[in-house]
Amino acid sequence: MAKVTVAEEWLNSCSGCEIATLNIGDVLVDLLVNNLEFVHIPVIMDHKYFGQTGEETEMNIPEAVVGIISGSVRNEEHVEVAKEMRKKCQILIALGTCATDGGIPALINMYDNDELNQFVYKDSPTTDPGEPPTKNIPPLLDKCYALDEVVDVDIYLPGCPPHPDWITAAVLALLEGKTEFAMPERSVCDTCPTIKQGKKGLPDIKRMLQSPVFDPDKPIDDMRCLLEQGFLCLGPVTRAGCGGKSGNPRCISTRMPCRGCYGPIRKGAKPIVDYMGALASNGFDPSTMPDRRGYLARFCGAHNMLKKLG
Ligand code: SF4
Ligand code: SF4
Ligand code: SF4
Repeated sequence: MAKVTVAEEWLNSCSGCEIATLNIGDVLVDLLVNNLEFVHIPVIMDHKYFGQTGEETEMNIPEAVVGIISGSVRNEEHVEVAKEMRKKCQILIALGTCATDGGIPALINMYDNDELNQFVYKDSPTTDPGEPPTKNIPPLLDKCYALDEVVDVDIYLPGCPPHPDWITAAVLALLEGKTEFAMPERSVCDTCPTIKQGKKGLPDIKRMLQSPVFDPDKPIDDMRCLLEQGFLCLGPVTRAGCGGKSGNPRCISTRMPCRGCYGPIRKGAKPIVDYMGALASNGFDPSTMPDRRGYLARFCGAHNMLKKLG
């Protein structure tokens, strides 16, 4: 049976999504030996966009059945690469929350490029002041975009990084001839085993670095919900999946609140509005939260979720 060809690209990315792909482990090795052929993957395989010696005038990525893109879209080269991938790949996967929702890089959408350059190249206390570079680098776009704001996306695999279970499940679905795959639209709370007493009213808000109340000798399902303990856990507005297909949410398992790294529960959801509403109905004034937009949309600032005010 002919192998399914795969092209992978990373845009405004940290490579954590690629490491998550490698973390599939033995199953990935089996897939590579028997079913998949990577025809383009710059993170591990040298492939030039304009021919190996730069002899071509147009960008050229090989054709593939499946295209995988991690990272958000921040400069003109990212747009060009994303469009070339879309042109050459039959099914396009957005891998990781940077690609699906902007991710951490989209926090920049609360500022414009002039403010960015001013801080990074002039005002940062750890930098000798200088001029922003302009030569031999792709120009920045006006802001940081999710992949589907630039090209059509067929499959979304959010997560920072995505759990290998979901990457495997999506690839196996495609190998079975399916053209669609979607993670369940559930919240982290839906998969969280902590004890919910459901009492209205929040206790004093605690800082993230404070320790919640729990018995270290007892399992996670013996601990009371962190939101009910006063931590601003983003589980209610964050998509489930970080524990894989059946595991507990990762941060909660380590007694830490959810910070929202899987992005909104479904496309079009408004986590800022939903979470502020939930806080208000529990008697907490969300306007007293410092940097509440950055906190509540830390991983999902694309799609106009975060923008410069005023
Ligand atoms: S989603 Fe997370 S792991 Fe993936 S590229 Fe973005 S920052 Fe890195
Ligand atoms: S708010 Fe946090 S701790 Fe509470 S149920 Fe949801 S995910 Fe679990
Ligand atoms: S608990 Fe929340 S922040 Fe932690 S890994 Fe899961 S989705 Fe991400």
